Amino acid sequence: MKLVNEFSKLAASYLSPAGQYAHLSIMIYHRVLAEQDPIFPREVTAETFDAQISCLKAVFNVLPLAEAVTRLKNGTLPARAACITFDDGYADNLTQALPVLQKHGMHATFFIATAYLNGGRMFNDTVIEAIRHCRDDVLDLDAMGLDRHDVGSFMAKRAAIIKILNRVKYLPLDQREDTVAELARMASDVPLANDLMMTTAQLKALHAAGMDIGGHTTRHPILATLDDAAVCREISAGKEFLEATLGEKVALFAYPNGKPGSDYLPGQAALVRKLGFNAAVSTRPGSATRSSDIFQLPRFTPWQANPARYILAALGNLRHGA
Ligand SMILES: [Zn+2]
Repeated sequence: MKLVNEFSKLAASYLSPAGQYAHLSIMIYHRVLAEQDPIFPREVTAETFDAQISCLKAVFNVLPLAEAVTRLKNGTLPARAACITFDDGYADNLTQALPVLQKHGMHATFFIATAYLNGGRMFNDTVIEAIRHCRDDVLDLDAMGLDRHDVGSFMAKRAAIIKILNRVKYLPLDQREDTVAELARMASDVPLANDLMMTTAQLKALHAAGMDIGGHTTRHPILATLDDAAVCREISAGKEFLEATLGEKVALFAYPNGKPGSDYLPGQAALVRKLGFNAAVSTRPGSATRSSDIFQLPRFTPWQANPARYILAALGNLRHGA
């Protein structure tokens, strides 16, 4: 691993020098699980997160996102600059990720969909948990127009979840909530987990530990499907809730789902600026340069659990400027 890190550091210094030609790599995480999930065995666990952060620290200069944005604009970023971000507000961000971040002395920014704090559940988790606890080996959703699915093994469950999520993700917000609630009723009698997301007390603890908190709307809608008034309501309500809870200005924003063009529209970046944010991040892969739009900064999702592959993928990501 040491050799991989040394090689990676050399390559990253070449691809991402200090100063005005710097590239900024922004990593996205969602959950950090206490232990492996048999349905999603490649989801990050505390153990893999620890190994990844250890490599990230060895190769990159990790800094807080707010500082990185300022230094990107000024042309004063260090070589191999990187930031760590988390989306959505999962409780495991506090219980699993924070101890690892603290162990390595790392800073991260957490983007919170505020409607799901305190016992809520995101639509994707309702689908995942309902199918995890499905009472039969086949889930017949024909009546809802969502087909029949084999859910008799972990692999089949994963395939069914991915198919269903792709179908419901872009439904209008209320219809999406109703559809997954109905799906949950049809799939399972088990009460689904209501402690996946943070409580406000946990959010405050994360903030008190020195981590940054950013906006991510309230109910995580696909902004591209909303009109300007609804977009402003969703974004402002989330921002105001966080500011009232934390007692400080919330200046960073992450677009829900985050793909430019399909998940949010270019004009909506101007709304985010108007609503009082200093910068925003998307999920378009690549690294940011001085010419990047700071209201549409690209981010990199590290899919590779193996730390060497993770670092090599991060190097590959550096080759794509924004
Ligand atoms: Zn999200």
